Amino acid sequence: MRKISANYIFPVSGAPLKNGIVVVEKTGKILEVIDTGGDLREIAGLEFYNGIIVPGFVNTHCHLELSHLKNQIPGRCGLDQFIFHISTNRASSKQVIRKAIKNAHLEMIRNGIVAVGDISNTSDSFDLKVDNKIRYHTFLEVYGLKSKMASDIINQATKLSSLIQKKYPHPHTIVPHAPYSVSPDLFRQITLKTKYGPISIHNQESSGEILLFKEKKGALFSVLSKLIPELKKWKPEFENSLRYSLEYLKGVQQILLVHNTYTTYEDILLAGRHNSKIFWVLCPNTNLYIEDQLPDIPLFIRENLNISLGTDSLASNSHLSILSEMKTVSKYFPEIHIEEIVRWGTLNGAKALNMNHELGTIEKGKKPGLNLISNLDLQKIRLTDESVIRKII
Ligand SMILES: [Zn+2]
Repeated sequence: MRKISANYIFPVSGAPLKNGIVVVEKTGKILEVIDTGGDLREIAGLEFYNGIIVPGFVNTHCHLELSHLKNQIPGRCGLDQFIFHISTNRASSKQVIRKAIKNAHLEMIRNGIVAVGDISNTSDSFDLKVDNKIRYHTFLEVYGLKSKMASDIINQATKLSSLIQKKYPHPHTIVPHAPYSVSPDLFRQITLKTKYGPISIHNQESSGEILLFKEKKGALFSVLSKLIPELKKWKPEFENSLRYSLEYLKGVQQILLVHNTYTTYEDILLAGRHNSKIFWVLCPNTNLYIEDQLPDIPLFIRENLNISLGTDSLASNSHLSILSEMKTVSKYFPEIHIEEIVRWGTLNGAKALNMNHELGTIEKGKKPGLNLISNLDLQKIRLTDESVIRKII
């Protein structure tokens, strides 16, 4: 049993506790959370840390499979060029790919990440996902604009799903890549397979996506139509990519919209008219890396959206660290309170992946993992550029 205290405990299920104490079993199960009212007395065996203690982090968007592309893709070149570089540089030996995946997994453990929603197109990462150090939900991602190929594409994904069930059991769902890469037929087949969700889909990541749907032109349209010739013939049914995704995902209970860099107030109203529970996954470091642009986060807060955080892949990020994403939010939007940002990286992420029964808050009976964030501005309780993370449990 360990008794752990710090300047503040952030249970996330309630207000921060000044000099609070968390009593933890050897297994990581929380036995008790004590509110000392700020008055910490000498207690035998108490571990005290300078900083704040928060639950283990949840990374709701990652692509482990792209880890070998670290430092390979030029930054700030726009999503169109990014996709072009990924498609031309992705091939590599299995050995290189698997080594990079393992290193990325270990990096996330060191960075206090306890659960990940990871996009997979292959089986390369499956064996790591059952080692129990991180809980994974695999999003088996599919794409294709040729309607007659939809069944073949789904069959491939179903084979990967069977492999997971037989050899590497962990939660997984078949999901669409993005509105510009999925035909209506493929969308229909995805929703037959994944009725309840969670479904994850890249959303409004570039201005090119907006233009592609509105006018069938722009940088993304030009690059994609070279990679996917069918795109030239394709007529989007809707002028808005989010509307297209949501129309075809009708009935899916839980949807993670990833990036939302160009999402507007009207888009939020549109999403609000759908019955699905929607999570808005933000990957700020990647947005800056690829598009040099951030979503309108203050708007998302005003509209009371369920926000969670993702690192995306090492192809577009120098670290797989939720703290680093939190620091970026705090740097660009200093008015956002740390309590709110911590909730996005813990409880909201756990809810998005349906893992909140065990993760996301420091509460009796849960096993959330504990992270210490130190080097903050403890007067204002704000993250600084120097803030660091240490995994305590
Ligand atoms: Zn992604």
